[in-house]
Amino acid sequence: MTKWVYTFGDGAAEGRAGDKNLLGGKGANLAEMCSLGLPVPPGFTITTEACNWYYANGRAYPETLKADVTAALDHIAKLTGRRFGDPARLLLVSVRSGARASMPGMMDTVLNLGLNDETVEALAADAGDSRFAYDSYRRFITMYSDVVMGLDHEVFEEILEDQKAQLGHELDTDLTAEEWQEVIGLYKAKVEEELGRPFPQDPQEQLWGAIGAVFSSWMNNRAITYRRLHDIPESWGTAVNVQAMVFGNMGETSATGVAFTRNPSTGEKALYGEFLVNAQGEDVVAGIRTPQNITERARIDAGSDKPSLQKLMPEAFQAFVDISERLEKHYRDMQDLEFTIERGKLWMLQTRSGKRTAKAALKIAVEMASEGLITEEEAVARIDPASLDQLLHPTIDPKAERNVIGMGLPASPGAATGEIVFSSDAAEEARAQGRKVILVRVETSPEDIHGMHAAEGILTTRGGMTSHAAVVARGMGKPCVSGAGSLRVDIRNGTLLAMGVTLKPGDVITIDGSNGQVLKGAVPMLQPELSGDFAKIMEWADKIRRMKVRTNAETPADARMARSFGAEGIGLCRTEHMFFDDDRIVAMREMILADTEEGRRGALEKLLPMQRSDFAELFEIMAGLPVTIRLLDPPLHEFLPKTEEEIAEVAAAMNVADDKLRQRTEALHEFNPMLGHRGCRLAVTYPEIAEMQARAIFEAAVEAAQKTGNPVVPEVMVPLVGLKKELDFVKARIDAVADEVMAESGAQIDYLVGTMIELPRAAIRAHVIAESAEFFSFGTNDLTQTTFGISRDDAASFLESYRQKNVIEQDPFVSLDIDGVGELVRMAAEKGRATRAGIKLGICGEHGGDPASIRFCEEVGLDYVSCSPFRVPIARLAAAQAAVRKR
Ligand code: PEP
Ligand code: MG
Repeated sequence: MTKWVYTFGDGAAEGRAGDKNLLGGKGANLAEMCSLGLPVPPGFTITTEACNWYYANGRAYPETLKADVTAALDHIAKLTGRRFGDPARLLLVSVRSGARASMPGMMDTVLNLGLNDETVEALAADAGDSRFAYDSYRRFITMYSDVVMGLDHEVFEEILEDQKAQLGHELDTDLTAEEWQEVIGLYKAKVEEELGRPFPQDPQEQLWGAIGAVFSSWMNNRAITYRRLHDIPESWGTAVNVQAMVFGNMGETSATGVAFTRNPSTGEKALYGEFLVNAQGEDVVAGIRTPQNITERARIDAGSDKPSLQKLMPEAFQAFVDISERLEKHYRDMQDLEFTIERGKLWMLQTRSGKRTAKAALKIAVEMASEGLITEEEAVARIDPASLDQLLHPTIDPKAERNVIGMGLPASPGAATGEIVFSSDAAEEARAQGRKVILVRVETSPEDIHGMHAAEGILTTRGGMTSHAAVVARGMGKPCVSGAGSLRVDIRNGTLLAMGVTLKPGDVITIDGSNGQVLKGAVPMLQPELSGDFAKIMEWADKIRRMKVRTNAETPADARMARSFGAEGIGLCRTEHMFFDDDRIVAMREMILADTEEGRRGALEKLLPMQRSDFAELFEIMAGLPVTIRLLDPPLHEFLPKTEEEIAEVAAAMNVADDKLRQRTEALHEFNPMLGHRGCRLAVTYPEIAEMQARAIFEAAVEAAQKTGNPVVPEVMVPLVGLKKELDFVKARIDAVADEVMAESGAQIDYLVGTMIELPRAAIRAHVIAESAEFFSFGTNDLTQTTFGISRDDAASFLESYRQKNVIEQDPFVSLDIDGVGELVRMAAEKGRATRAGIKLGICGEHGGDPASIRFCEEVGLDYVSCSPFRVPIARLAAAQAAVRKR
């Protein structure tokens, strides 16, 4: 028989940390903490399998579940001496969701469950505190009505605000027991008025309502969105954790809080967290009250005058410090902890590996390796390569003038500039139009995930370092400033008031998530560099990886930046990109539009010196590292003059009439330029183009070798080859030019001629093409386009719909389609090697910078990946992780 329920409590548990798939992260770690003998309120976990059963059976429960839950409640009764639903020995429970991967704030929680008009009196008598009992009951009604009955919590907040105004109270904590009782009466009446049925009084009905709500929350919109953004499969399901309540709201010696064993923003090794006195968990996360610091040091650093936990409750604090150290050692990772102190006694409610910024991840990994807690290889394995992107984005130039209009908490590092928007929908709309925005909210909630995703950065006026905005932004790697209390969002008028300035949607601001500043306008930014912990991890990764990492670059600036990020050569220099400058485009157009070979040669004469000096500079920057230069490839329409002004300009340069040029432009029109006269087809029809480029390459090689003393071995790459004869035709021209340049200069030139594999036919005929090609570089952008028959220029309009409808999991232009396109790559690699053992193999499509695709490249044994400069560090790390996996 399937076991649906696992109990824990009092130093023992049926589950373990390794049971995450079955018990969810929270449940597995509660079990583990129990087994370690830590103070955890006893309880039980209903498995993720029960959730899957629930969905597979029209939202019904497995037959034996009821009996299992009853037995588990008995187990709690045995350990606590309290019984669920029994006013004489009252047991209240919390019900929390817990999926395999943590999904902060995505699903639902109900606290204080089991309270009703009768048990609330028992709770009051039990605690000797009726104010506390009514406070708990009103919280329960609010949460339960919201989560289980679908009544928005705002209706209750309105009632409470009205009551507070009438009574002249400012804070919730100012209300007396009697006043809360009155509020509860109004709450219950509201439930009945809105839903047409009374608030449920039967604890069993309450419990099953909450269990059903947690299971159902797995399919709510925000959970679905979160899963899509984080690639979490729907089939995982969520577990439900039911635990004996412990109360952080039992007066001034009670508290609740969250903490990280190291700073999740910087990685510094110091306990870091926040708590609230006389409060329950949701108060901390909701950001309604500003929390206090846990340690004295953090309090002093934050300049807060509210006492720290260390000062206020030294014994509970010390117990917490001991436990946090123990848990970090046990899990060998930075932990994210939740706790409650009930009348001085500490209870642990959660531990899990803490989410952290990329910067913190690097520091923590490097320090844990030097502490001997983990190995260098584990340190490398722990960094998410994609997260490095956060560190490879600009920061504000320290010399820049800062027009500071507000200040908040440095919730997630990095700087971002954008137009103000006040809603997540507006953020998404703007993003779709290609505009950059900063999402400005009083506070964010899980409904804002899509807007946070669309925004460059997030600014909130309320909430702490662990508020929803802060936690989610850090996870997404977006800059965030939270709790900027001096700013005021005026939702009604759609304005942001900041130090006497009124800002409207569309006005530009900059946020600095590293120090909490909010600045007016755009500010100069600095390019990132690779140093400190980042450099250390890269050094360790380089020791592990087998594949080389090159860059796709054609400008000296990109080539230099890529080298500073550790690129080991250029894998793709797209020569056509060198002709977009104002002074060059006219000559380029002249060349394309000439209708005679003579005309073309005239234009090519002008282009030759420009190309030569470009190449020489690249060779010098790369100082002897391999440089692959691709012959002209573009679909010609990219270069055709479009406006009348452009036509006139080129006509003048060519000394022909505008009309004649217009006719020639029309004659060159193609219905499908991507599959038209491009790639090596240009070199076959107009060999003089390839000859000019080859000459520029070889002359530059001679020049750079003489100048720097480094030998230069250019790799000349022929694009879009489908037939071996195409390659042979072009290669013969290249070889002839090489001979000429050697004869003219008297220098020996070593070079390779190879091809891109970007057409299915090339992959299929790779064994034949390899007879002539000295290297292959997989152009997976075109190979994806031609394998799928999906135009890379037009894919965006429908691929997102495919993704949403689960027809595809990922955009194949972003992450390699391993089953299809990957199969062609694998086959071509094998066939190429069969003909020419040791043929040099690389990839230069966008996939060369995508970690999952890089893993595949390691599997098929490519020699290198090549990617854009900013992705070079990501590729270095991903290549190392791929090498470890393959071992
Ligand atoms: C490719 O097709 O993968 C490639 C690198 O070439 P381009 O993107 O320039 O077509
Ligand atoms: Mg291509």
